[in-house]
Amino acid sequence: MNERPLLMIPGPIEVSDAVVEAAAGPPPSHLAADLVADFAAALRDMRHVWLAGPDAQPFVVAGSGTLAMEMAATNLVDPGDVAVVVSTGWFSDRMAEMLRRRGAQVTEVRAPVGEVPPLERVAEAARGARALFATHVDTSTGVRVDPQALAAVAAEHGALSVFDGVCATAAERFEMAAWGADVYLSASQKAIGLPAGLALVVAGPRALAARQTLRTPPPLSLDFEQWLPVMRGYEAGTPTYFATPATTLVRPLRVALAEILAGAEPAAAMAARFALHARAAAGFRAAWEVLGLRLVPRTADVAAHTLSALYLPDGVDATLPGAIRERGVVVAGGLHPEIRARSFRVGHMGHVLNRPEALARTVAAVGGALADRGLQVDVEAAVAAASALWEAPLQGTTVGGRGSAEAP
Ligand SMILES: *Cc1c(COP(=O)(O)O)cnc(C)c1O
Repeated sequence: MNERPLLMIPGPIEVSDAVVEAAAGPPPSHLAADLVADFAAALRDMRHVWLAGPDAQPFVVAGSGTLAMEMAATNLVDPGDVAVVVSTGWFSDRMAEMLRRRGAQVTEVRAPVGEVPPLERVAEAARGARALFATHVDTSTGVRVDPQALAAVAAEHGALSVFDGVCATAAERFEMAAWGADVYLSASQKAIGLPAGLALVVAGPRALAARQTLRTPPPLSLDFEQWLPVMRGYEAGTPTYFATPATTLVRPLRVALAEILAGAEPAAAMAARFALHARAAAGFRAAWEVLGLRLVPRTADVAAHTLSALYLPDGVDATLPGAIRERGVVVAGGLHPEIRARSFRVGHMGHVLNRPEALARTVAAVGGALADRGLQVDVEAAVAAASALWEAPLQGTTVGGRGSAEAP
């Protein structure tokens, strides 16, 4: 097989040809007219993909998802403030560490690997908190929280709600305005479908106001207040300089967001997008069941649609991803320290979901590698079980109601 290997890790992901094309060519100036137009369109489309209100402010800053997390931690919380972290894996732990370094009093509400802590425990911890942080999909466990319920709990206690959507944005249902979430942060290289390099943060009006009342300003390069005039300038066609944006990634960002929103008004386009990911995940779950693989998330309702975190079967060691790679598909090893040597992860998000043959190739590569290890697996049946779901019509075409755009 001399085909390029298929990249099925939880980021970076396969991107569309249009995105590859948009990333090519000489680097534009940060003040070039084309760049300014692309930047303005991208900022407007971020509000649509985030399902955020017109009063929400998108920030596009050179950096990775980790930088986006740090922006949220340092713009909203003062040293000494109480911050609650809903902990569902390794990335939630990273958020907690950032907040501790900021000097916050951090309460982590934890759950065993594969589970989500009960809402009542989060509500208890949220009393008196300045902000509540949660990881929409924790990429180390494949666990998804319910941001709508968490945003409501935070609001009830007068706390800001912040969601790390790095492995979820543009794939898992999130309605920033309708749910009253204050910050939804992300990065370019996961479900949004770009190369790595952009930290993407949307802050609602309460979050912007919270920055203004901080006693201890954030590091200059992360400061909402420094970036606000820059973002507003790009959107108004009057660019200004604070720190050089990743100019080669701005056009690809515009193209990727436009692809996500194509063909329908934003609410319908996003509902279809969420349904596409839910259907893909359901297909993979069906395949894993046939192959005898067990998901790390304990129940289907907390299993992410963007990746499958899977336990290695008995007698199969952590070299399995290497064997899958030999079959032309790149998957990821375990990440969470408790299950690192006992698990592996398959990403399924973004543009590749429109290519059922690539998804089938992924199942066949995993199944084939298991068969090579001497397991009795029916690879054809696994592909067939998944394909039956991938060929089914998308479920749900609206956002705004609970349970819409979900997989069967
Ligand atoms: C990947 C990821 C991050 C970190 O993003 P980087 O771009 O690698 O810094 C943070 N949170 C979640 C949930 C992620 O999946």
